[in-house]
Amino acid sequence: MTATGAASAAYIVAALLFILSLAGLSKHETAKAGNAYGMAGMVIALVATIGLAFDHGISGTGTVLLVVAVVIGAAIGLWRAAKVEMTGMPELIALLHSFVGLAAVLVGWNGYLTVEADPDNQTEVSSDLLGIHSGEVAIGVFIGAVTFTGSIVAFLKLSARIKSNPLVLPGKNWLNLGALAAFVALTVVFVVEPNLPVLAVLTVIALALGWHLVASIGGGDMPVVVSMLNSYSGWAAAAAGFLLGNDLLIITGALVGASGAYLSYIMCKAMNRSFISVIAGGFGNEGSAAASDVDYGEHVEISAEDTAELLRDATSVVITPGYGMAVAQAQSAVAELTRKLTERGVDVRFGIHPVAGRLPGHMNVLLAEAKVPYDVVLEMDEINDDLAATSVVLVIGANDTVNPSAAEDPASPIAGMPVLRVWEAERVVVFKRSMNTGYAGVQNPLFFRDNSRMLFGDARERVEDILRAL
Ligand code: NDP
Repeated sequence: MTATGAASAAYIVAALLFILSLAGLSKHETAKAGNAYGMAGMVIALVATIGLAFDHGISGTGTVLLVVAVVIGAAIGLWRAAKVEMTGMPELIALLHSFVGLAAVLVGWNGYLTVEADPDNQTEVSSDLLGIHSGEVAIGVFIGAVTFTGSIVAFLKLSARIKSNPLVLPGKNWLNLGALAAFVALTVVFVVEPNLPVLAVLTVIALALGWHLVASIGGGDMPVVVSMLNSYSGWAAAAAGFLLGNDLLIITGALVGASGAYLSYIMCKAMNRSFISVIAGGFGNEGSAAASDVDYGEHVEISAEDTAELLRDATSVVITPGYGMAVAQAQSAVAELTRKLTERGVDVRFGIHPVAGRLPGHMNVLLAEAKVPYDVVLEMDEINDDLAATSVVLVIGANDTVNPSAAEDPASPIAGMPVLRVWEAERVVVFKRSMNTGYAGVQNPLFFRDNSRMLFGDARERVEDILRAL
């Protein structure tokens, strides 16, 4: 078998492993196996690609550069993955998406410099297909640049380096439409007569569009943006695959692109958001003001001891965790509280909002890590109708996902987003450190309801106080 034949066979095996990986990652029980398939596929893909480079007569310097790049990349990847906290995962993922985007831009520019800008390199075949090549360059650079800056803004918003409030420039939808129209026109010009200034302008417009699209989206819609950028990074990789003539990159990119797009669609449905509006940078949503200046009255505090008393008398308890549980690393204490209450005959269940935390499945991962049985962990739709008949709801570090204004105030920036209706329970105890707003920057009227009590402080410390008092 020739080296090219062996590489093609290896690529097919790697592609199958990537498909198995995606299938595995769709369920808790098979997620670890899914990860293992993905890693095996990536190792096979790397080895086959390096083998192919040798077969194509890679130079000595080229070999050294390749090995150095793989070693440095692998070392940084291992170091970051070992160091990252669960709460830092979303921003790390956003940063990784930005690398895919940047790589696609560089591959596109390299394609232009080595083919269109260098007539010596244009073979008979490639000169026949030059127009297609130029189209691939323009599209690859555009998708890559939008992904690159969009992911950087997502990284900045998710790591709280910039505010999560939407940027509302005058005529923002026209700006986006104008950028899209300019891209189409510049691509046509570039295909007809490839030249550097056109490619440079196209790149700058795409970089600005990526930045603007994500900056215009409010905190509440960020989960969809993250999965959408995931999808874009897949299409950017596929575009790079076309330019490099690498089938595996095309297949892998298309897998990531399609699964990311489907995940975005599912999340939009779960959050009652328009898919088109989100991918078009908040199209149709002119950015209503956060209702933080509304006077909802006074909140009432409760102590850990009094909360323990409430729990002792309760027959049913529902725990709704949120991002604050991840920050406080309170999951083990919460799991211990669940065991203690269950031993006392209290019916304890969890209600998980689809976008609680900062990653899809964030809460499920934390609770699984703390060994909370899967059968008491219910999705929002499974538990919402039972909340009215619940004695006590413990809101542990959740805020936007339990905000009644999403259901009751059409002017709220998070209006229409389905939430856990915790306020319907007999009593609600909210664990948080202050009266600050959640990720979407919207005040929460739940804190001021008659049946709500605020338990201030770090969630883990407060749960441990309750455990001692029980
Ligand atoms: P929020 O981000 O709305 O609120 C978290 C709350 O936790 C804050 O009010 C904070 O209040 C409290 N908190 C923080 N640290 C601690 C601590 N150590 N102890 C106790 N409380 C703490 O959380 P939700 O999970 O309800 O909502 C998730 C939000 O994130 C949604 O807006 C969602 O759209 C967005 N998002 C979700 C993504 C996903 O995929 N799941 C991705 C990107 C964004 P205080 O500071 O007063 O303590």
